[in-house]
Amino acid sequence: GSVALALSLAACGGEGAGDDSSTSGDKPADLTIGVSMPTQTSERWIADGNSVKEKLTAKGYKVDLQYANDDIPTQSQQVDQMITQGADVLIIAAIDGTALSSQLQAAADKKIPVIAYDRLIRDSKNVDFYVSFDNYKVGVAQANALLTGLGLLKADGSKGTATGPFNIELFAGSLDDNNAHFFFSGAMDTLKPFIDAGTLKVKSGQTKIEQVAILRWQQETAQKRMEDLLTKSYNDGSKVQGVLSPYDGLSRGIITALQNAGYGSAANPMPPVTGQDAEIASVKLINDGVQNSTIFKDTRLLAEQAVIAAEAFLQDKTPTANDTKTYDNGVKVVPSYLLPVVTVYKDNIKKELIDSGYYTAEEVAAGQ
Ligand code: BGC
Repeated sequence: GSVALALSLAACGGEGAGDDSSTSGDKPADLTIGVSMPTQTSERWIADGNSVKEKLTAKGYKVDLQYANDDIPTQSQQVDQMITQGADVLIIAAIDGTALSSQLQAAADKKIPVIAYDRLIRDSKNVDFYVSFDNYKVGVAQANALLTGLGLLKADGSKGTATGPFNIELFAGSLDDNNAHFFFSGAMDTLKPFIDAGTLKVKSGQTKIEQVAILRWQQETAQKRMEDLLTKSYNDGSKVQGVLSPYDGLSRGIITALQNAGYGSAANPMPPVTGQDAEIASVKLINDGVQNSTIFKDTRLLAEQAVIAAEAFLQDKTPTANDTKTYDNGVKVVPSYLLPVVTVYKDNIKKELIDSGYYTAEEVAAGQ
């Protein structure tokens, strides 16, 4: 849009919200950012929503933050409403990466820029920017944590002293979440040489993402699948010796199933179970030596990037990408800003999570 148009709109009251004009002449207080988050059942999304809201509010913007209870129609409706109520930019963490095309078309028709948050939105040309972590590297880090837990790798990444073979099982996230595929392929590319060499055996035989995916990342579904695996594939006295889990909620479901089956004693140790998100319940389990590891993705940094991108769009600028080739959404490659991730084990909880102010020492120690 033109500066002249923005100025003339500003002159007639600055109702810039949601019209087809530039927003660059508007004051922050006249601009609304719609923030659509998937669910409040996992604490990371609450932290994400709060961080984005706080940072935008501190700059004077209005924020319309909505959570969709992991229900696709609810999210579609919430985004529709943000558009009709005059949002100037949308920040969306999609439940189903392919389900928002008509909403995004409506946004494009009103020239509302769309930022995909953490999860890529697929099958639409109307995704203007993507802020996330390096999702393939998350999967690599999870696999490396599993290999380290088994003693096949040392903490410095060199070859460990263990020889195996080890029985492992694999889990993946929700198939409608683009990230789940990146996590799984990063992990499988890393584990495959060990599986091919016979050092790792997936005893159930379930190695395809469609076989191991957990719809909507539900903890109970993961617990149930682990119970089924134990009953069907480990009823001959053999033991599960490692589990690749892509998210802390699933990890806790898996750990519960293993505990219910008697794992977690000196004679029958808890196998290494990986994770993601550094959820406090899992950080405590890691601190207690029950869960092996998690992948820490600092939601404060992601929120900051989303705010930087939103502000760029509001000033009619193009946000700066640091990756312009990885995230093809089926229609176009979406310019992205990707953040690095950190693997957290018991011995670096203090450095990564407490010293950085993400949690207090009391939060990590509580309930012990
Ligand atoms: C996110 C993960 C999260 C998962 C489940 C993924 O899209 O990238 O951080 O664990 O969703 O909420």
